[in-house]
Amino acid sequence: MTTTDTDAEAKALDAADPLRGFRDRFVGAESSLVYFDGNSLGRPPRASVDRLAAFVTDAWGGRLIRGWDESWMDLPFAIGDEIGRTAIGAASGQTVIGDSTTVLLYKLIRAAFDAQHAADPERVEIVVDRDNFPTDRYLVDGIARERGGSVRWIDVDLTAGVTAEALEAAVGPRTAVVVLSHVAYRSGFLADAPALTRIAHDAGALILWDLCHSAGSVPVEADAWEFDLAVGCTYKYLNGGPGSPAFAYVATRHQRALAQPIQGWMGSADVFAMGPDYRPADGMRRFLSGTPPIVGMLAMQDTLAMIADAGIDAIRVKSIALTEFAVRVADAELTPLGVSVASPRDSAWRGGHVTLSHPAMREVTARLWSGDVIPDYRDPGGLRIGLSPLSTSFGETLAGLRSVRDAVAALAR
Ligand SMILES: *Cc1c(COP(=O)(O)O)cnc(C)c1O
Repeated sequence: MTTTDTDAEAKALDAADPLRGFRDRFVGAESSLVYFDGNSLGRPPRASVDRLAAFVTDAWGGRLIRGWDESWMDLPFAIGDEIGRTAIGAASGQTVIGDSTTVLLYKLIRAAFDAQHAADPERVEIVVDRDNFPTDRYLVDGIARERGGSVRWIDVDLTAGVTAEALEAAVGPRTAVVVLSHVAYRSGFLADAPALTRIAHDAGALILWDLCHSAGSVPVEADAWEFDLAVGCTYKYLNGGPGSPAFAYVATRHQRALAQPIQGWMGSADVFAMGPDYRPADGMRRFLSGTPPIVGMLAMQDTLAMIADAGIDAIRVKSIALTEFAVRVADAELTPLGVSVASPRDSAWRGGHVTLSHPAMREVTARLWSGDVIPDYRDPGGLRIGLSPLSTSFGETLAGLRSVRDAVAALAR
């Protein structure tokens, strides 16, 4: 494949892309900047510019505290249901927007551990892999110590993720909860969520899925795959903006049995009764703690509308085409420089990003950022190429990879 063939291919792929029109619905897409970090902080939707301004003027400025009764109190549940419907395959009443991902993970892992341990005192282990995202690992370690349990670590290949065999070997009668990422943050490995969920259940364990790198880019069927619990970010592929609050999913069958540890007034049965004791609300409200962060829930609504419009299956088709194209270009133009693909080569096992590995990638990243090409860096030597399906074009992908090629060539010289 010559480089001009590749240019023509990128053009043809963009021309044939049924989702190409979505790119213009994002702020900044018209510039020549290459954005490879939509898997870490999605671009702002253009519609959110007006939505945020109107919120300040009309809703906050005009309705003032009446806004709570009129719509804000319901917003965490309404948006949660919309995430359930458009992105994670969850029927209504099981998904809510809450705190940060970290805090929601803490609440749900601890609640699940306590419920399992109370039902069967032998169940003292939390199973997690050594390559899970740091916050997940740190929380599991802390919860195990706090509750008198222990951690069962799964070793994984850093260019892949947790397999069925690895999970089967780790779970058993001592397992309380399993905590796994659906798409691995480093390699982009896409776990076989339905199979791994069955393995956890066959061992009598509950499983919590971290959907941070899958919600909005990879189809998820939380109900059909019989998830127990899930948590996911909204500022990655859901473009909610820096620090926008996360969502939690709790299957209806578990909601009554789970008691989360941050017993705040917003999770109580009658919020404004201001009673002497905490009684948890029914349903998903019990997983809330304090006043919902409404301002942080504005932008994600515009992305959810785009996902509903495009359809998550079509988004996945484009995502696969983007990552396959990136792998082809890397093979043709970057492997001669000593760069290797540190992600699964089979798209069935890959989420929305591709990691390219080379010892100089830390310096390559700094050089690229100063030239308005923005991937990110993860040790050891991994350059993450995040390809957000609604906002990334094939032409942008090619231009960015050519800049990576030039930076590697310059720095490795
Ligand atoms: C991004 C990410 C997080 C982030 O947690 P925050 O509380 O939002 O900082 C957690 N887990 C995974 C797997 C992630 O990719």
